[in-house]
Amino acid sequence: DTQLVLRGVHRHYGDGDTIVRVLESADLTVKGGELVALVAPSGAGKSTLLHISGLLERPQQGEVEILGVPTSHLGDRARTMLRRTTVGYVYQFHHLLPEFTALENVSIPQLIAGKSQADADKRSHELLAMLGVDSRAAHRPAELSGGEQQRVAIARAAANHPRVVLADEPTGNLDPATSDLVFEALRQLIRDEGAAALIATHNHDLARRADRIVTLRDGLVLPHTL
Ligand code: ADP
Ligand code: ADP
Repeated sequence: DTQLVLRGVHRHYGDGDTIVRVLESADLTVKGGELVALVAPSGAGKSTLLHISGLLERPQQGEVEILGVPTSHLGDRARTMLRRTTVGYVYQFHHLLPEFTALENVSIPQLIAGKSQADADKRSHELLAMLGVDSRAAHRPAELSGGEQQRVAIARAAANHPRVVLADEPTGNLDPATSDLVFEALRQLIRDEGAAALIATHNHDLARRADRIVTLRDGLVLPHTL
C-alpha cells in the first residue's frame, strides 16, 4: 500500500543552449506513515520534485503514482480531482485566505469536497486543537503569529485526510522553537493519518528526525545522511 512513487522522472526547463536539466531519471517511493526529508541546496530541484509529486506540474518523462494510480495518462481534470482528494500541500508562505478566519480557512476545502458545514467545522476545530491553535479559530491570518499561521496551514492541508503530504520549507520563516513545534505537529498528523510525507527543509535538526533523508544530485534522488 505504497502511497507515492516516482519512477524515472525527467524534468528540464528551456531547451538548446539554455536548457536546465533538473530531474533526470529520479526515483522515489514514500510509504504510508513515512516521513521523508528532502535536503538539497537551493536550485537543486526540490520545489520541482514536490510540484511533480503533487501533480501540480508534469514530468516530460517518467511516471508518478499516487495510491497505486499511474497519473501520466490522466488529463488535467482527472489529475486535479486526484490531487484534491489525496494530496495535502504546505507552502513556505502559508497562503491562507486573508479575508477568512483560521476556522474558515480549514473548513473551506472540506465544504468544497462536499462535507456539511457542521461536520467541516467539527473536523477543523479538532485539527486546530491538535495543533494548539484552536483558541485562534476566530482570528484572521493577519492576527496570527508566523507559527500560528503555519499551523493553520497544516490543519488546512490535513483537512481532507490526504494520503500524501508535501511540504516545501514549512518552517523556513520560523524561529527555532516554533519550527520545532510545527514540525512535530506535522509529524504527529502523518503518524495519525498514515499519510506519506515528503518535506523539503534546510533545517538539519528537523531533517534528522525524519524516518529517512534524501537529497538531489545530478537529477537523481539519492539517500542522504547528515
Ligand atoms: P529548489 O526548490 O531546490 O531551490 P527548484 O525546483 O525551484 O529548486 O529549481 C530547480 C532549477 O530549475 C533551478 O535552476 C531553477 O532556476 C529552474 N527552474 C525552476 N522552475 C523553472 C521554470 N518554470 N522555468 C525555468 N527554470 C526553472
Ligand atoms: P511570535 O512570537 O510567534 O512571533 P507574536 O508576537 O506575533 O508571536 O504574537 C504573540 C501572540 O499575539 C500570538 O498568540 C498572536 O496570535 C497574537 N497576536 C499577534 N498579532 C495580533 C493581532 N494583530 N491581533 C490579535 N492577536 C495578535
